[in-house]
Amino acid sequence: MNTSMKIYADNAATTKMSEASVRTMLYYMENQYGNPSSLYTIGQEAKEALEQARADVAAVINADPREILFTSGGSEADNQALLSAAEIGRKNGKMHIISTAFEHHAILHSLKRLEKQGFEVTLLPVHEDGIVIPSEVEAAIREDTCLVTVMYANNEIGTIQPVREIGAICRAHNVIFHTDAVQAVGHLPIDVKEENIDMLSASAHKFHGPKGVGFLYARKGVLLTNLIEGGAQERGKRGGTENVPGIMAMAAALKESAANMDRDAAHQKELRDRLIRGLSAIPHSALNGDAQQRLPGNVNFCFEGIEGESLLLLLDDRGISASSGSACTSGSLDPSHVLLAIGRVHDVAHGSLRLTIGEDITEEEVDYMIENIKDVVTYLRGFSPVWRDLESGKTPHIL
Ligand SMILES: *Cc1c(COP(=O)(O)O)cnc(C)c1O
Repeated sequence: MNTSMKIYADNAATTKMSEASVRTMLYYMENQYGNPSSLYTIGQEAKEALEQARADVAAVINADPREILFTSGGSEADNQALLSAAEIGRKNGKMHIISTAFEHHAILHSLKRLEKQGFEVTLLPVHEDGIVIPSEVEAAIREDTCLVTVMYANNEIGTIQPVREIGAICRAHNVIFHTDAVQAVGHLPIDVKEENIDMLSASAHKFHGPKGVGFLYARKGVLLTNLIEGGAQERGKRGGTENVPGIMAMAAALKESAANMDRDAAHQKELRDRLIRGLSAIPHSALNGDAQQRLPGNVNFCFEGIEGESLLLLLDDRGISASSGSACTSGSLDPSHVLLAIGRVHDVAHGSLRLTIGEDITEEEVDYMIENIKDVVTYLRGFSPVWRDLESGKTPHIL
């Protein structure tokens, strides 16, 4: 066994910047430092570059460049999308919003804020397979529904949602449809027109671009409300001098991801499934979320009788960077709201492990992960009182 292996398997948390993205960023930092609002040449060159980036980003999701607003990332895009749809709703006397129980906190916490402002929120269940049922979205739509927001792919369990069907339902009922596509952009083919998407959020650092930059797509005719008041940048919808190096680096990363998407996804899926097969051999374990309808790089398991956090730390010692849905370090004893939403009980949800593999993952790395996870799970169960009770029959196995 190669004990010196280093495997980054937390690409859902963030990704390494691509070489093209880093090079582009440095170029704009070193050479093109003009302010796009300035009228002299280096300012106008920056402006032109920015508009090229807007066109490049728009092309990847089949949007019009004027429908792309650059933001500081996915969270800002989510916040602005929800605030904007809520403002439109308020003007029309529509104060009901539909979302799901397993959204990112950028959505869930924005919804909490809107609730305090008088909006009513329906959170749909996501069922055991981690997928929203379109007919349940339709059934939840009321006369006063102003927005449906359902994520494109879940950041913890990787399940891909029936966005096209939900989009068609929303269009038929004349309700704005937003999707948090932060995990999907650059990884899955997206066509906002064909999929009837009115608003979409994306973040560069999830597709090998820099942190602190992202974009919001808003279909022509969907009026945006500012989060940041200031100058006339971004058609007056977001004040502040544009993050030119970050935006250019984002566009470079996205173009590259889009160009290699099919090849990368095929490779990742093959190794994802090898990893799933290998980990399924661990007794009393279960894959979280549908096995097929999931992101090419996402593997998420629950192992009975262990703490996800201990597992993480021991894997870190073996050179594997992974993540867990258990959040004890953040001061909360609650396990992942996503795992609870798909019906995992607390004890089981605490023993979760998320591995999100990159495009350059190798078979050798996958096998190294399988061996080490088997090893560490067995080791941890060896002195777990929860596991002892499960094995003695004092408490029944669930998985
Ligand atoms: C990462 C992530 C976000 C937040 O994006 P930032 O750019 O980090 O603010 C929002 N939604 C989902 C689904 C994410 O995975």
